[in-house]
Amino acid sequence: VIGNAYGIPVHLFANEQVKVENSAIEELLGFLELQQTLEQIQQADPDFFGTTDIGIGRVAITPDFHKGSGIPIGTTITTKGFILPQAIGKDINCGMRLYITDLSEEQVRSKLKEMTKRIRHVYFQGGRELPITPRQKKALLQYGLQGLWETSHETVGKGLWRQYNALQQEADLQRIIDRGSLQAGGIFNGLENYTSIDYTSYDAQLGSIGGGNHFVEVQRVADITDGAIAYEWGLKKDAVVVMIHTGSVSIGYPTAMAFKDYLTDLYPTGLRKPDNGILPLPISEKYAGFVENFFMGLYNAANFAFANRLFLGLMMQKVFSEFFGDTDFRLLYDSGHNMVWQQKTVGEEWFLHRKGACPARGAEQLQNTPFAWTGEPALIPGSMGTSSFILAGCGNAQSNFSASHGAGRSLSRGESMKYDEAAFSKFLEEFHIITPIDPESTEIRSRRDIIQKWHDELKKEAPFAFKPVRPVIDTQLEAGIVRQVAETKPIFTVKG
Ligand code: 5GP
Ligand code: MN
Ligand code: MN
Repeated sequence: VIGNAYGIPVHLFANEQVKVENSAIEELLGFLELQQTLEQIQQADPDFFGTTDIGIGRVAITPDFHKGSGIPIGTTITTKGFILPQAIGKDINCGMRLYITDLSEEQVRSKLKEMTKRIRHVYFQGGRELPITPRQKKALLQYGLQGLWETSHETVGKGLWRQYNALQQEADLQRIIDRGSLQAGGIFNGLENYTSIDYTSYDAQLGSIGGGNHFVEVQRVADITDGAIAYEWGLKKDAVVVMIHTGSVSIGYPTAMAFKDYLTDLYPTGLRKPDNGILPLPISEKYAGFVENFFMGLYNAANFAFANRLFLGLMMQKVFSEFFGDTDFRLLYDSGHNMVWQQKTVGEEWFLHRKGACPARGAEQLQNTPFAWTGEPALIPGSMGTSSFILAGCGNAQSNFSASHGAGRSLSRGESMKYDEAAFSKFLEEFHIITPIDPESTEIRSRRDIIQKWHDELKKEAPFAFKPVRPVIDTQLEAGIVRQVAETKPIFTVKG
């Protein structure tokens, strides 16, 4: 528990082995100034929130937390009467998806060289083949994966759609948080007098990994820790699994920006803006139109992210089927770690924000779902050179039903670039990383600038840039946030 001048309940989860940076703690304490902001607004403009029943419920911080821009990454917060658009993160609905296959590591390794070429073609060199009609695009943004499913006949049998089995896709919806289908109510095109945005122009990015931490990683289940849950989920030791981490690429960013300008202008005139720069969006009649717009933009981008992960999965399924024929490719789960959820309990409406935190609801919160006795899968990646984890949520209310969404950065991208070059070379020798550039192509060999760019990009995300993942996981096992089901090790990682 972190003490603070405002009396806000703040739970930070970290055992002695987890490095907690002072800069992140300072940022967290600065963020709590929010309480004062709320009080000042109410004094200056009693109509602003349209009610006196506003407040902060609980702040919970995951052990992978690190400095963000105003709000640390790894922050979860519940609010009443207002939303904090900045407590979601800019990559709206960035998240994880995991598939279980019936392939073995030996099979994959035996074809690695040829598969690498094919993967590069499919993911980066125009081999995506993802036709999409204007109607599908609209249905996807407005209704998510359900909308995509309802319009999937329009492109049936074309390119990547050959991998899209409509029956399977419908069944899979219950293995995706919110069924991957958020009712946006329309297509956001910016705010009047603010930014105008053409969401329908973003389809070129469907099926793209995006830079930085995002990846498609093929892993082997190295260890099963909870045999009963693993059995229920169809997870076996030595099975090959596919972990996908991406979000709304650049579609979410303009939404976040549009709202930042708007919130600034909305702030009561004459009142000094808070030092932490964090501004609330009131959920009142007076601002109902903006709230509607906010959810429209948020849900459009979130739906896009669900589809993005789906297509990145189908692309790997396509490559696998080319090399190994008909293979199992079963969805375990898909959930986002940058979102706000409306939670209705008797007579009260709370908003749960997660900025870089993974949903970890327990069995009790998941009645009538496939996870009614296991809790929801929490997918926690380590890095491209370490273990990742498949866990089951325990539904810990003190942690806001949330787990960490990774190991967490320990070196900034700049610091990482300056890190020991020998350590980086050793990592590159040991692990198989697939990027858009083919190091063996003679054309690329003559382009030192491109080689340098990719060297730098990868080095920023190298294993040494992240905290050791084991203590981060242990903290959450000890606190009863998640149960460990399996540990995985990378076979290869696709970075975009
Ligand atoms: P973020 O959502 O903050 O961008 O990243 C989440 C986490 O993903 C990071 O904290 C890190 O632990 C993990 N991570 C970053 N790159 C990779 C990768 O290539 N493979 C795996 N397995 N994990 C990664
Ligand atoms: Mn992201
Ligand atoms: Mn992410």
